[in-house]
Amino acid sequence: MKEVDILIVGAGAAGLMAACTIAGSGRADGLSVRVLERQEKAGRKILASGNGRCNLGNSGPPEGHYRGGDPDFVLPVFQIVDAAKYRQIFLDLGVVLLEDEAGRLYPRTLRSDTVHSALLNAVAAGNVAVDYGLEVYDIKCRPDSGKDAFFVSFRSSTDNLRSGSLITEGQIKAKAVIIAAGGKSQPQLSGHDSGYTLAAALGHSRTQLFPALVPIELADAGKWRRSSGQRLRAAACYLSHGGKSSARVEGEFLFTDYGVSGIAAMELAEAVERDPASGKGDLVFDLIPEMSVEELSSFMMRQIELHPDYNWEELLNGLLAQDILLVLLRELKAGDLKKTVSGCYSIARAMKEFSRPVKATRGFKFAQLTAGGINTDEIYPQSLESKICPRLYLTGEMLDVNGDTGGYNLRWAFSSAYVAGKNVLAVLK
Ligand SMILES: Cc1cc2nc3c(=O)[nH]c(=O)nc-3n(C[C@H](O)[C@H](O)[C@H](O)COP(=O)(O)OP(=O)(O)OC[C@H]3O[C@@H](n4cnc5c(N)ncnc54)[C@H](O)[C@@H]3O)c2cc1C
Repeated sequence: MKEVDILIVGAGAAGLMAACTIAGSGRADGLSVRVLERQEKAGRKILASGNGRCNLGNSGPPEGHYRGGDPDFVLPVFQIVDAAKYRQIFLDLGVVLLEDEAGRLYPRTLRSDTVHSALLNAVAAGNVAVDYGLEVYDIKCRPDSGKDAFFVSFRSSTDNLRSGSLITEGQIKAKAVIIAAGGKSQPQLSGHDSGYTLAAALGHSRTQLFPALVPIELADAGKWRRSSGQRLRAAACYLSHGGKSSARVEGEFLFTDYGVSGIAAMELAEAVERDPASGKGDLVFDLIPEMSVEELSSFMMRQIELHPDYNWEELLNGLLAQDILLVLLRELKAGDLKKTVSGCYSIARAMKEFSRPVKATRGFKFAQLTAGGINTDEIYPQSLESKICPRLYLTGEMLDVNGDTGGYNLRWAFSSAYVAGKNVLAVLK
């Protein structure tokens, strides 16, 4: 049986960063590292991230941007890897970062393949072996010559088995294991749920999993079909049938033939998923967040004075994209509304509280993230080591940690892996 000091499960964002961190100083200590990846390619989500531009972090403080059973669980990691350290880690990999007006961090090339190749170059330079197309399906921790050792079983990944490739199967003995298997969202990229199963077999529990950062389907999408492709800067919240409202999200919404997408809509999806009721509630849009009902009504009254012959559609032409305006006016039966103060108020209020029935989110297939995961109570937050199984480390998205859009999820994956990598080095030296 092959033996290795450190075995890493998964060559995604966290697995590659852990491998680089260990390779950076581990070589000097003579430690051997091996990574097993079930896909034929590493880091597919890194490549897809930020629309191919890789929004890998955010310069803002982490407080308030992460959720999970214990939102403070992330803080010790971000004390170790603060904003300056994070930049330095990437600079050391040769990746210069730039920051946009919202604090989002990108490689200065604005290309995710820059980050991807920098990580792979460092892994190769550190003599870390990465094996592709191999899925870890079992990890056992057993005493071996008086010491606990991990016995990691792997085989050709299920995707390879389906395509009839040669079946490989084997076992590796390791002194420490880092599981960096990610979440189950977007299986077409690399999402898979085996990380949760591996951790469970080693004694870990997990919280409920649900898709997050995902577009929302509307029950009345048919009415919106003509607005499909229309982008709108607006604010919205999710209101359950029980009357519970989510936080208000302001930003860009993209209307589609099934409902709404865009960053702001995706941020509301978590509230839809967390609503325990079987029937979903409504998305309530404020279509003109920068104006109050009173300001909107006076704007309309002034337009009526200036253009007494215009119909509502002509009067409101400059406020909303025409396709959205027409849906709103049709629903309000605006043809019956008089061009009076009370008519203006009715339209202004409808624009500020434009309610659409939610059908569902688009699920794991379209989600950028899996919310929920391995219970963080079972992990030491300063090292990412398991409290249940010494020298087992759990990192990245598979933990019950989910962040906002804007770079917070890659920031967590990379930073948690860096901390785990440093810690495993300290333990095995
Ligand atoms: C389309 C898209 C865009 C995104 N954009 C952004 C963004 O701009 N900014 C941001 O912060 N976040 C973004 N995210 C989220 C971010 O990519 C993830 O949170 C991050 O990649 C998680 O890193 P990870 O290493 O934990 O998991 P992953 O990157 O998913 O890596 C897990 C790896 O483990 C492998 N694996 C799983 N099980 C096994 C097994 N049993 N054996 C061997 N290998 C296994 C998988 O094949 C995969 O390669 C985006 C996600 C998606 C899907």
